Amino acid sequence: MVLPEVQSHYGRLRNYVGGTWIEERDGESLPVMNPATAREIAQVPLAAKESVEGVVAAAQEAFPAWRATPPLERARKFFALRDLMLRDAGVLARIISQDQGKTIEEARGEVQRAIENVEVAAGIPSLMMGYGLEDGAAAGVDEEVVSQPLGVFAGITPFNFPLMVAFWFWPYAVATGNTYVLKPSEQDPVVHQHMFRLIEEAGFPPGVVNLVNGAKETSEALIDHPNVQGVSFVGSTPVAKAVYARAGARGKRAQCGGGAKNFLVVMPDARMDRTVEAVLNSAYGMAGQRCLAGSAVVAVEGVHDAFLEKVRRGAETLRLGSGLDPATDMGPVVSSAAKQRVESYVDLGASEGARLALDGRTATVADYPGYFVGPTILDAVARDMRVAREEIFGPVLGVLEADSLDDAVETIHGSVFGNAASIFTQRGATAREFRSRVRCGNLGINVGVAAPIAYFPFGGARESFFGTLHGQGRDAVRFFTQHKVVISRWS
Ligand code: NAD
Repeated sequence: MVLPEVQSHYGRLRNYVGGTWIEERDGESLPVMNPATAREIAQVPLAAKESVEGVVAAAQEAFPAWRATPPLERARKFFALRDLMLRDAGVLARIISQDQGKTIEEARGEVQRAIENVEVAAGIPSLMMGYGLEDGAAAGVDEEVVSQPLGVFAGITPFNFPLMVAFWFWPYAVATGNTYVLKPSEQDPVVHQHMFRLIEEAGFPPGVVNLVNGAKETSEALIDHPNVQGVSFVGSTPVAKAVYARAGARGKRAQCGGGAKNFLVVMPDARMDRTVEAVLNSAYGMAGQRCLAGSAVVAVEGVHDAFLEKVRRGAETLRLGSGLDPATDMGPVVSSAAKQRVESYVDLGASEGARLALDGRTATVADYPGYFVGPTILDAVARDMRVAREEIFGPVLGVLEADSLDDAVETIHGSVFGNAASIFTQRGATAREFRSRVRCGNLGINVGVAAPIAYFPFGGARESFFGTLHGQGRDAVRFFTQHKVVISRWS
């Protein structure tokens, strides 16, 4: 049975500023669409520069008292928030599925990942501790390091994980004593209307966590604001680069995750059935709109034919539909523009000489006129084709061949991205070599989606990440704090 929508329309979305829900009356707004039905489910106002002034001022005002709140007391707000998120996990997941298009199971997984970051951030008293050494500087001169919050931080997040990506950052920023402004993707911002009600209910003081809706101009006003100390960004590579440069030019901290092209290397000794299952999930889970999606397979030394046939048969059986239908294996892509872009890449692949082993361009779903693209396989892809090098971000799997592991690693390094790569093999030495040589931020060994859990850093390499400290766990705590070295002599 198809799960009910939480609401069929959410009206004009509001901002949450200094503990008050504010309607942005004037100015531009955009429709927010349900990608399965192609119907509008909300209007998102795009906050103007003056509204950004207001939200940063509210966060700035809340900073001194929040900073002075002992870490354990700050942590208690996160304990409360965790319980509320568990209570409402089903509602959050249904809103995400309705707004983003992913299956309800994928949406539940996303909520769970967000909750895990709240749980890890609740350990802030230990995570934030400094260190010191008696007589560390000289006899009678002690030296220590303390970690302190800096002020207001901002987060700018992508459409594909409308809830989770925000939680790689804000819980750590706020647990360490900073205050925060979140600007979610304008494509699917609805879940935060409910999420921020939970933040309110958890008892975070007004101004500590704020929400502002908008797009490019809103983001730029946040990055430029002199009271914003740093920015956490996740999205496409061109925008990640622009945000990193913009923040850097203003002397601010920035951690910017970009796009990806993730290769899955299949060795001849791989356990074939498990590998096929992992590849199907990696390529077609979330309709290929994960930054960790395996978008190209590199079949090594003659494994190609048997592998391709199995993947094709598996892909053909995937059931397309609304994410709110629990029987659905794969939902739509996020927008009509995304559908057009993905389909134009399939056209491009064919014109570059790839062979269409499975064509999802004509897929339709009864009763749902939304933005569906069926599972697609481009075979005989060559390393220098644009479909092998560029991010497609849809349910399109390219298949390449390689003569050896060396050849496969060269293919991976031919891409400018370095988010993730996986190898499927039963040989320890092959896996070890892969781990040692491949220049990507997240590696999978017999794992198709190498997604770090909340206490491990989520980042990437090369053009998939700009900055040094990643999101989640200890890295995030360091990004949001200033280390201060104190040297003291008392005798
Ligand atoms: P996007 O770059 O279009 O937008 C991301 C965010 O940036 C949105 O909130 C948007 O409003 C804002 N924005 C747009 N233009 C801007 C500008 N010029 N300056 C400042 N902000 C601007 O990305 P998207 O389409 O929402 O997300 C998909 C992309 O995100 C894919 O490329 C995917 O690989 C990537 N992604 C990366 C990771 C990672 O960890 N590296 C994780 C998830 C998604």
